Amino acid sequence: MSNPVETLQAGLKALRKVYLERLPEKIEEIEKIWNSLQANNNDEALKALHLVVHRLNGSGATYGFKALSDRARILEGYLNSIIENKENNSENNNPLLSIQVAEIDNLVAQLRLVAFEPAPTEIVKDLVPLISTQNSGLPEPVSKLVYLLEDESNQVQDLALQIEHFSYDTATFAQLTDLVAAIEQTSPAALILHVKFSEDNLVGAKTIAEIQKSYGIPSIFISEVGDLNARLQAVRAGAKAYYTTPLDINSLIDQLDTLIADQTQEPYRILIIDDEPTLANLYALALQQAGMTTEISNNPLRVMQPLSEFNPDLILMDVYMPYCNGLELAAVIRQQEAYVSIPIVFLSTETSMDKQLAAMRLGGDDFLTKPIQLEHLISSVNSRAQRSRILRSFMTRDSLTGLLNHTKTKEYLDLEVARAQRRQSPLVFAMLDIDHFKAVNDTYGHPTGDRVIKNLARLLQQRLRKTDIIGRYGGEEFAVILLDTDGSAALQALDRVRSHFAQIRQHSENGEFSVSFSCGLATFPNYSSATALNDAADRALYKAKRGGRNQVVLAT
Ligand code: GH3
Ligand code: MG
Ligand code: MG
Repeated sequence: MSNPVETLQAGLKALRKVYLERLPEKIEEIEKIWNSLQANNNDEALKALHLVVHRLNGSGATYGFKALSDRARILEGYLNSIIENKENNSENNNPLLSIQVAEIDNLVAQLRLVAFEPAPTEIVKDLVPLISTQNSGLPEPVSKLVYLLEDESNQVQDLALQIEHFSYDTATFAQLTDLVAAIEQTSPAALILHVKFSEDNLVGAKTIAEIQKSYGIPSIFISEVGDLNARLQAVRAGAKAYYTTPLDINSLIDQLDTLIADQTQEPYRILIIDDEPTLANLYALALQQAGMTTEISNNPLRVMQPLSEFNPDLILMDVYMPYCNGLELAAVIRQQEAYVSIPIVFLSTETSMDKQLAAMRLGGDDFLTKPIQLEHLISSVNSRAQRSRILRSFMTRDSLTGLLNHTKTKEYLDLEVARAQRRQSPLVFAMLDIDHFKAVNDTYGHPTGDRVIKNLARLLQQRLRKTDIIGRYGGEEFAVILLDTDGSAALQALDRVRSHFAQIRQHSENGEFSVSFSCGLATFPNYSSATALNDAADRALYKAKRGGRNQVVLAT
């Protein structure tokens, strides 16, 4: 992987070069509007002039052209006062006073002067420290490798097998030295240690503590004893969790999932709405370097599509744009229930407090002033996107499994069917239902039943692709939307999940047991609407149940 800071610098330089190349055009545009405004006084032209000057103000300093931004800001302020004055006195399309013409002339000339000055060299340096190395690293590829260490019994092979059912790769070691050697080769995502540290020999505990320190690998300890002393040793060795035997495998897997979840977090999706493409590109580049995914919309009137398809965690929005300003657009977005909670961060050269507060009232969450330090942009966006994702997950996710809830799953089905239609790509809708689940509840209790539901949810998440959409459709029913997949591939994928699930030993206080599920599949474009897919999958599921359960049936 190339150095992210260098990549960013190169990207910034390239963007800056483009900006420089386009600068003469921008000045000429300003002059052209100004000339036409003088020829025939109309307020539209005045506003157009204000907008282009405003953009120059915002973008100039971001690329290091401070003098240019300074002049633009003065001109923008001057134009603004004229516009406001005219509005307050209802003097529509009145000609400008000669003193005003002279002042604007003067300011436009100054703009041209600074824009065509040779760029001072220190500007390039200014761009460099915008982002520190610390938060610009791309996320490391995630492994699902778990190392197990067991110094005495032979239980470990069995444990490894159980863990592998949940899509983890395992390697087992009997000696601490072997484990350390393996870690030095390939670092796992977690360690599971089934070892006893004796009071008189704490070398093992120390070694493990050191592994944690230098590699930052989370560890789970398993022990026969749960007394305070044993737990204390484990904590000192850096244990993230502690389990006593007989082992509750479900809870262990939960713990593993949580420990590793932080590393597998999907990147935040940021939608950037700015009519100035060079600026939008710059923000996108900076956010991408910080590990986020971005999409740019330069046209506020076409924002509905990226909103629904890109499904952003946060919107970064310019305030002044042609046709429709950022504040209006925010209000439009907020009027739609699905987007009430998406944070909107406004970016503007607007420094007047009144307008900032008005922006907040319309539902904007934050207001950053251009030119913005990219480092500041990244940290604001990052923390707000994180909060947004957590909050939104409460509304769209099922609390037991963390999967999409019924409503959200159906929404996705509508959306994906429409998208598949546009792209002419196939799609599969699957419905799953756990077999004889009532009997599980009756025999082992409701809490055990809940665990089984969670196990299946987890297995689906781990065994299917990241792009597949998984929902809890009802009590013990699940739905999956497999994108860009045809019937036979989906049949294979779900049959693999089925076979794995049936092999998992479910634990309860009253002993171990296993459970299966039945599944019905329907394919797009064979079934061409969300409703048709839903009904066909449901019928196929019914067929699977009648055919003896524990099977997957494809609707024909
Ligand atoms: P079949 O193989 O035909 O699907 O049989 P079944 O027993 O699974 O089907 P049925 O629909 O008769 O029973 C579903 C049971 O699932 C009834 C309900 O109590 C239980 N159930 C639904 N939601 C939950 C839940 O969240 N937790 C638990 N533990 N049980 C649930
Ligand atoms: Mg059912
Ligand atoms: Mg059932």
